[in-house]
Amino acid sequence: MEAALVGAIEAGGTKFVCAVGRSPGDFEAVRFPTLRPEETISHAIDFFKSKETERGEIQALGIGSFGPADVNPKSKKYGWITNTPKENWSHIDLGNPIREALSGVPMVFDTDVNAAAWGEGKWGAAQGLKNYVYITVGTGIGGGAVVNGNILHGISHPEMGHLRIPKDHSKDPFPGSCPFHGDCLEGLASGTAMRNRWNTDPATLPVEHEAWKLESGYLADALYNLTLTLAPQRFILGGGVMEQKQLFPMIRHDLNERIAGYIEIDDLDTFIVPPGLSSRSGVLGALALAQELITKH
Ligand code: ZN
Repeated sequence: MEAALVGAIEAGGTKFVCAVGRSPGDFEAVRFPTLRPEETISHAIDFFKSKETERGEIQALGIGSFGPADVNPKSKKYGWITNTPKENWSHIDLGNPIREALSGVPMVFDTDVNAAAWGEGKWGAAQGLKNYVYITVGTGIGGGAVVNGNILHGISHPEMGHLRIPKDHSKDPFPGSCPFHGDCLEGLASGTAMRNRWNTDPATLPVEHEAWKLESGYLADALYNLTLTLAPQRFILGGGVMEQKQLFPMIRHDLNERIAGYIEIDDLDTFIVPPGLSSRSGVLGALALAQELITKH
């Protein structure tokens, strides 16, 4: 049976990626900047409508969104962005206006990182695994987890970007950039934090710069805590900062040091890896979730 035609959105704080398709080999995507909610939502609707004219009716909609967001299907505000620090986007219904414009098709709404985790499990670097974590290190930091084959949800979604990790003020006097917590993980290790600490675009820092040693240490601290908490079989690290490939061996080394032989990790090279779907994990994950919604119905 041919996979259903579905719509997918990766809604990020700086850009939206919208796609229509059936699989990684058959999908068309557009990207546009995240503007005010009304404009952004109407761009998305226009794209889906034009694709419906070409390809036929979209059967379901999958959204992976920046957060915090309401990802509880039983909640009245399912599909909403909640108390985000992003200007104009706090308490905005993102999902339902789009779903309604598409004849009220079934919708699945989750965080961008949960969607990315799901995409990596379906078609990327976590195929065949039932327990793994996807983390993006970009403008912000976020993490999604698959536990026993399901996306992990609880009172809401995980907020791994805001873990509290040790900080040595003598080595790093930067106070942190998180508007909520100052020196949480995101406040210390996001691209924004790096930019503010070093007063430059982190991509321009040479590989031997001390910035990367510090960055690797902070990320290894986070992975250490998550390894002990969730016992994942793999970490997939994506996002703009992780384009700096020198970080991978550094983080493996620093994590190994922190674990200190307490847990046996057979192969650090396959324990910490880049995404198999490069920057498409989120939108393809949203596509996979939308298709699975149809199968479940
Ligand atoms: Zn924070």
